[in-house]
Amino acid sequence: MNGAVPNRADRSLAPPERAPDGGDWRIMSTDDDDNRGRRERMVREQLERRGVRDARVVAAMRKVPREDYVPAALRRQAFDDHALEIAAGQTISQPFIVGYMLQALAIRPGDRVLEIGTGSGYNAALLGELAAEVITVERIPELAAAAAERLRRAGLDHVHVRIADGTRGWREEAPYDAIVVTAGGPDVPRSLLRQLAPNGRLVMPVGRAGEQRLVRVRRTGRESFERELLTRVRFVPLIGAEGWRGDGTD
Ligand code: SAM
Repeated sequence: MNGAVPNRADRSLAPPERAPDGGDWRIMSTDDDDNRGRRERMVREQLERRGVRDARVVAAMRKVPREDYVPAALRRQAFDDHALEIAAGQTISQPFIVGYMLQALAIRPGDRVLEIGTGSGYNAALLGELAAEVITVERIPELAAAAAERLRRAGLDHVHVRIADGTRGWREEAPYDAIVVTAGGPDVPRSLLRQLAPNGRLVMPVGRAGEQRLVRVRRTGRESFERELLTRVRFVPLIGAEGWRGDGTD
């Protein structure tokens, strides 16, 4: 591991206990049997049992090490059945909701996908397993930088992190076959609808702070869209020009 080479006077090959991010080496990046087993249980008990059974989605969730996308101090809770706080007051979503949204997007291997709300980078890594190219947009630079580093280490060169107000989408690389918004807004931003490819799908939480409904939109024509209401959810606010202006309450 870079930066952890023992100096010549130190004959011990035992790894240092503290990792560069302040975590404990012994519980860092541990894609080992224990974590594979925990991921397997997460998939069986939290996803498949509740109806998330799309073969590609569950394979991706078995494969991507969720434990690498949560803060070091919370790694042991990475597979718990709820959202976890990451940094800057933001969250990594509950595994079931992540799987549910991915299933609702019906992503095909050749698809180009836009995610709004990079957060930890976990969902972007899963999208990277499912799609040909992923653009993920985050408004908080500190989160974007940490996620980009995790995705780089995971070798996901086709997943690109951008820092911007994602309520405007990312016009430079539109259109997208699928768009997923992982923060709750007052309605679906018009810019995102315009950036959907023909037959493209968008999934996003819509509603006030504290409780939203997941909405799925499909572009059926130049100016026509089909809209369906899915399950109730609770996400952090989508803040920006076509979202909430402040903390999600105005
Ligand atoms: N997908 C993330 C993951 O896998 O960790 C979880 C995302 S977290 C629930 C929501 C994220 O949306 C936060 O990181 C927040 O900063 C971001 N966000 C809120 N408004 C945004 C906007 N207008 N543009 C881009 N990101 C935004």
